[in-house]
Amino acid sequence: MTATTGWVCQVCWKWNRPEDDPCFKCKSPRGLVDDAEVEAQRKVLEAKAAEPEPVPDIVVAVPVWVFRGYARVWLRGGIGLLGLLALMALGGVTDLIWFALTAGFSAALVVCGFLAGEVADGMRNREVWAFITGIALSVVAVIGSITAFSVFAPGLVNPAAVRWGSLIVFGGAGVAAAGGLFLLIRAGRRAAA
Ligand SMILES: [Zn+2]
Repeated sequence: MTATTGWVCQVCWKWNRPEDDPCFKCKSPRGLVDDAEVEAQRKVLEAKAAEPEPVPDIVVAVPVWVFRGYARVWLRGGIGLLGLLALMALGGVTDLIWFALTAGFSAALVVCGFLAGEVADGMRNREVWAFITGIALSVVAVIGSITAFSVFAPGLVNPAAVRWGSLIVFGGAGVAAAGGLFLLIRAGRRAAA
């Protein structure tokens, strides 16, 4: 990677676009090379993280909590499935399509889990994109969960029950994200007026 394609923040290790300065995530200045400076920036970040929530309202707290939970469960599920895949590969793959399906599903879980973690962080900072991504993610999760059940365990659970269960579990997260977005925009309007 060259300097024209982006840079990595020395404080939080996030990847930044070339035009980002300071870091989009932690607002540390670009080009910190001195260890003491990096350490000082990290201290500032830690102090900020230890502070109480700026406006501790439940409507932001609920989606943050929900998406943090998803992030943990999805990441663990995806990594667990990857382990299973490794065992399958060692034992000799008999059904390539099945193997590819499981691999795709576990990769999707890891990606969604990672994304949900980013979304929870963004929501905590009241960033609009995080709420929008959260809504999209919950739609994907409803579809993904229904599809996963019909592909991996057809007939195990009543399809109607799967549909309703997915809709309640993940649709609820979407509603929480939408509610947070609505209040965020309303608060922004009030601040602007
Ligand atoms: Zn950073």
